[in-house]
Amino acid sequence: MTEDNKFSRRQVLGGLGASLAAAAVPPIFSAEGAAPEASTPAPLLDPTKTYPKPPFKGQSQPWPGLASQMDPRPDHGEKSYKGSGRLQGRKALITGGDSGMGRAAAIAYAREGADVAINYLPAEEPDAKEVIALIKAEGRKAIAIPGDLRDEAFCKKLVDEAVRQLGGLDILVSNAARQQAHPSIMDISSEQFDWTIKTNIYAPFWIIKAALPHLQPGSAIIGTTSVQATDPSADLYDYAQTKAATTSYVRSLAKQLGPKGIRVNGVAPGPIWTPLQVSGGATQEKLKSFGGTTPLGRPGQPAELASIYVQLAASDASYATGQVYGAAGGDGQP
Ligand code: NAD
Ligand code: MG
Repeated sequence: MTEDNKFSRRQVLGGLGASLAAAAVPPIFSAEGAAPEASTPAPLLDPTKTYPKPPFKGQSQPWPGLASQMDPRPDHGEKSYKGSGRLQGRKALITGGDSGMGRAAAIAYAREGADVAINYLPAEEPDAKEVIALIKAEGRKAIAIPGDLRDEAFCKKLVDEAVRQLGGLDILVSNAARQQAHPSIMDISSEQFDWTIKTNIYAPFWIIKAALPHLQPGSAIIGTTSVQATDPSADLYDYAQTKAATTSYVRSLAKQLGPKGIRVNGVAPGPIWTPLQVSGGATQEKLKSFGGTTPLGRPGQPAELASIYVQLAASDASYATGQVYGAAGGDGQP
């Protein structure tokens, strides 16, 4: 492990320490809520040095995996994300809100003033508890609705419950997904194929249909797609198709819902350090060098995408619809 790697890893494990925060964190991400003085220039942050780089330790968890068991622990902005009222009073439902990009969005939304409901699988309760506590710490409503999105009846119940407990809905982040690497198409059973398609294509369809009657003009739908939509890996045959489908539904729905004043956009991450990757999403070999071939030389952290989810949900992005915003360390196109 390089000296750089040790340095970054300590910061992530211990949360962003005050010294790093002072030295390297721009205003919106200033640690511990301490905004820099208006007259203090924001320090420059070198994106190649901010977070851990490969080589990583081999590690494997049973699917769906827990962020709290990863080494190093991912950064979802727990200590660093600082809001500025951009989503004051909004009501958001985020699937896969316990970990990864969904958790980063949940933390950021709460700090921007939104009430947040999260969905996750019952096995992810330990991660979900941490997120619920973080949302509550902002004085916002935090609603936990565990359940399996492969079930159409549950998807409808999820939306109904979120609407009931939040008192409405105006931001839907359809983010949950299943990704399992298989070296050959011959290794993918019909059951596995169906699992991926149900989670990644059917569930957003069911959830958006259930949510639409509740969404007023000004509401936003955000889907998490991937660079896999446009640059699919050999071992992600089924998953990559679903991400192409996600990008397509974003563009189709944006045209359909534009006249109703509902915006629909996508986020396309590159390699991001999340439980999905250590619970079958990537091979051990790929994990050890994860993100290493990107121009930034490292994987992204969920926290680095939080502001994109905020931007796409915020009212001042009112002319952005049908867009896919990428964050891939310089590789791939959204
Ligand atoms: P993650 O494991 O933290 O999040 C995925 C979530 O999906 C899980 O937390 C789980 O709650 C949820 N989920 C999966 N199956 C479910 C089911 N049947 N019922 C209910 N919930 C279910 O990983 P992540 O990487 O943050 O994934 C979030 C999104 O980002 C996904 O859409 C994924 O495709 C996308 N993405 C990830 C990467 C990456 O490198 N990590 C890259 C591109 C796109
Ligand atoms: Mg999870």
